[in-house]
Amino acid sequence: MEFPRNAAPYRNAAERLLDYNEIYTDHDVPRLTNQGARCMDCGVPFCQSEDGCPIYNLIPEWNDLVYRGQWREALDRLHKTNNFPEFTGRVCPAPCEGSCVLGITDPPVTIKNIEMAIIDRGYAEGWVTAKPPESRTGKSVAVVGSGPAGLAAAAQLNKAGHKVTVYERADRIGGLLMYGIPNMKLAKDEVVERRVQLLREEGIEFVVNTAVGDGSADSVSIDTLTNGNDAVLLATGATVPRDLPIPGRDLDGEHFAMEFLTANTKSLLDSELADGNYISAKDKNVIVIGGGDTGTDCIGTSLRHGCKSLVNFELFPQPPAQRAADNPWPTWPRIFRVDYGHEEAASKQGDDPRVYSISSLNFIDDGNGRVSGIRTVNVEMKDGRFENIEGTEKEWPADLVLLAMGFLGPEHEVSDPLGLDYDERSNYKAQYGCYKTSVEKVFAAGDCRRGQSLVVRAINEGREAAREIDRFLMGTTQLP
Ligand SMILES: Cc1cc2nc3c(=O)[nH]c(=O)nc-3n(C[C@H](O)[C@H](O)[C@H](O)COP(=O)(O)OP(=O)(O)OC[C@H]3O[C@@H](n4cnc5c(N)ncnc54)[C@H](O)[C@@H]3O)c2cc1C
Ligand code: SF4
Repeated sequence: MEFPRNAAPYRNAAERLLDYNEIYTDHDVPRLTNQGARCMDCGVPFCQSEDGCPIYNLIPEWNDLVYRGQWREALDRLHKTNNFPEFTGRVCPAPCEGSCVLGITDPPVTIKNIEMAIIDRGYAEGWVTAKPPESRTGKSVAVVGSGPAGLAAAAQLNKAGHKVTVYERADRIGGLLMYGIPNMKLAKDEVVERRVQLLREEGIEFVVNTAVGDGSADSVSIDTLTNGNDAVLLATGATVPRDLPIPGRDLDGEHFAMEFLTANTKSLLDSELADGNYISAKDKNVIVIGGGDTGTDCIGTSLRHGCKSLVNFELFPQPPAQRAADNPWPTWPRIFRVDYGHEEAASKQGDDPRVYSISSLNFIDDGNGRVSGIRTVNVEMKDGRFENIEGTEKEWPADLVLLAMGFLGPEHEVSDPLGLDYDERSNYKAQYGCYKTSVEKVFAAGDCRRGQSLVVRAINEGREAAREIDRFLMGTTQLP
């Protein structure tokens, strides 16, 4: 009742566009203490329930501990449910805040800011250290894929005393934490690699540059992993991008978002972009097709390259400013939000880059096989389907087009040779909560099982899959 919501600001948009450093400002302890004080310690804390935090973080407990200045205890409570709060505290869209009871009448507690501050303080104070298991079980588990699902599972299985080896086809560990989400949202060496190093010290083995099942000389076959281990966890992500098969799709200058984002981060980490091994948006008219986190990251990256103009197409209409009647508390609020990339585009171009209710008809050829524009039409929803609105066709200049329209599911290089069953959306079939696939001793977790989702859900699945693998190996489990 005494304090309003006061979320931590990002760095000034115009300034942060000049670098790839994280967008966050330093933690302001009095602000965080006041926010902790706003938590009502509800009898039923919806923030940590099914609708709120997917890993059931003990939010009211650590809110109160921060309010009382007991940061170390807050860290211990946070680590009970979350292996990687430094990732979620930075990139989670915070469904917990959407279901905060205070949110019924007032703006919710800044839960995510508090989470990030607790873990950052933990590292700064030296409280976060490697904790190898005291004894080993003699069982071994192979994890394919090193995104948040694979890492969370590896951390938990290692804690239970199993020998864990994580196989990753990229040259760096982290999955989309490393090569999807850009530096300005999640620093690589300082945050992702810092945690991976702790996991190494705890005894987890990481094998990079190894695409399991792709048949190349330096790869490992999936049979080798199933024969050589007591269990295998597939955590390969949902990496097949949705395409836009309209005329002109074969022109140069059109790329999937992940080609653009991955190459940028790799070049940035390898050489501060000096090697030139990335797709540059400099001086280009950029059109990003599709929204969500991926679209926003393409916007933020293109602006940092120094693009000439930037437009973001969204098929769906602009969401309302407030919750609609069919979107009540405590469900995730489907409302209009301004993410970091939109704010940066507005600071550079003067307006929000998003154009809603628009569909692309065809790409325009510049005469030399390169894209020079996109022809679009406005659409409206009728009987659950999008229909073109006649007379609204328009041409937009574009010499770089980035497709950020989501992902269709996992690749099947690893799963086909195993004869794994798929669900109706081509994901690896394994029931939520049990994570067992149709193949003996093979489990699946994260985006490859549920489809493209969130880091926090991947962590949840990794932790739960580890619990089920431990039960499978030992007959019983103490893992949460
Ligand atoms: C651009 C982008 C931005 C995002 N931003 C956010 C955000 O801000 N907040 C949020 O909560 N979520 C965000 N997401 C979603 C989030 O990153 C994913 O839901 C999450 O990373 C899924 O974790 P995962 O472990 O299941 O898979 P991934 O993170 O996709 O990791 C899978 C790993 O498996 C590896 N792999 C695949 N096949 C093989 C093989 N055969 N052999 C060896 N390795 C293999 C891949 O190389 C990859 O490293 C974003 C997604 C994208 C694409
Ligand atoms: S992980 Fe996400 S949902 Fe859970 S407390 Fe943190 S910000 Fe909220």
